[in-house]
Amino acid sequence: MIEPHTVPNPGVDELVFLPLGGTGEIGMNLNLYGHAGKWLIVDLGVMFRDKSSFELDVIMADPSFISERRDDISGLVLTHAHEDHIGAVPYLWGQLRCPIYATPFTASLVARKLREAGLTNKAKITEVPMSGKFNVGPFSIELVTLTHSIPEPNAVVIRTSLGTVVHTGDWKLDPDPLVGPSVDEEALINIGKSGVLAAVCDSTNALVEGRSGSEGDLRRNLVNIIGRFEQRVAVGCFASNVARLETLAIAAELNGRYAVLVGRSLWRMYDAARENGYLTDIPKFLTPKEAGYLPRGEVLLICTGSQGEARATLPRIAAGRHPEITLEKGDATIFSSRIIPGNEESIEQLQTRLIKLGVKVVTADQEFVHVSGHPAREELRQMYEWLHPQIAIPVHGEHAHLDAHAMLARDCQVPNVLRIQNGNIVKLAPGRARIIGQVRSGRLGVERGQLTQLRPDAVPFHKKTRKVDMRIISK
Ligand SMILES: [Zn+2]
Ligand SMILES: [Zn+2]
Repeated sequence: MIEPHTVPNPGVDELVFLPLGGTGEIGMNLNLYGHAGKWLIVDLGVMFRDKSSFELDVIMADPSFISERRDDISGLVLTHAHEDHIGAVPYLWGQLRCPIYATPFTASLVARKLREAGLTNKAKITEVPMSGKFNVGPFSIELVTLTHSIPEPNAVVIRTSLGTVVHTGDWKLDPDPLVGPSVDEEALINIGKSGVLAAVCDSTNALVEGRSGSEGDLRRNLVNIIGRFEQRVAVGCFASNVARLETLAIAAELNGRYAVLVGRSLWRMYDAARENGYLTDIPKFLTPKEAGYLPRGEVLLICTGSQGEARATLPRIAAGRHPEITLEKGDATIFSSRIIPGNEESIEQLQTRLIKLGVKVVTADQEFVHVSGHPAREELRQMYEWLHPQIAIPVHGEHAHLDAHAMLARDCQVPNVLRIQNGNIVKLAPGRARIIGQVRSGRLGVERGQLTQLRPDAVPFHKKTRKVDMRIISK
């Protein structure tokens, strides 16, 4: 183990990659690229934990390696607005104090966070257009539009004198994403043709065979499923899935229902989406108070809390603790979301509670009510075919996902596949890419508003008892 302050900055003739978070776990992404004495940060996210099972609100990667060399940071580029990519900005920016670059939708959500943290006048966000090209210190950056489960997901193409890196961020190949453009295939093909040194790529669904599916196909199905029910229908989904919110608004209208947003994060996301020109062509959502006056069969409730998070909407409704909304016998709840690893127990508790109330529960295991935002194996193969990089580095996954992704990249004839983990210093160029060192990669937690250092064993998902299914799932 190398003490962080003893690691020299990479020289003009060197290019290194160093993930401090998100490689070996799903969440709290923090990636560093070093070149010509400077560092580029890609993403700064958190991992959420349920307060009922764990005392901390959020967990993030310990940035001390990079905050100790704050003067050498050129900037922070954010790929997209999911919490595991931007959530730590308000907590850690004070230690980094670097310029932030993001596309408009992401920038408006980060600006809200900085405002709440009292950092508006200090932190500078440079809004970059989709497909934008700009320089950050010695790194020449190009954004490539992808599809995911939130508007404006970007791959970050990093060009240096030593070669081009494609850092994919989170993505899938959705031919009909409903909100925003489809994947910029042409840009990816051209980048591949001009030569890619390394692809640093999303591993979340590397165990899933086939393709992730399209938001467009899902819309048709959700309209039909909602049409089956006569009483109240509640749908649990992620607030940030703007295409899904649009789908639910349309499904409500086609089924003679009013769509209601229940949960503060949904309203915040709705405002940010409208500010950026999304969700402007659908009927306005109602508040829970307005819904209270409507017959039960004329309401479609869109709720947070599909992961069983104790303080979010669905668990509060299920426990009879929501001030405005109740569910009862004959109502239905659709879980239009995936299970984030680690949340299995709280989700099961929530579903059992609902079933005990006499509420019909529909999940993605039983019916087609959700599509993932991450690439399944066929999509990963397609990406390697477009980019044909010299080096593949799987990131954004637990160890089993990284292993499966590494094997797939080898099958795709990538000459050098590096299976790495948080804290590994990877020399990408010159010479053969390899791990040249390891720095400490700790975690910080927020407890009662204060950042605290966590012991490595203080985090439940590192317990040896947690098993990851190694089989590749066919669907
Ligand atoms: Zn994401
Ligand atoms: Zn992510």
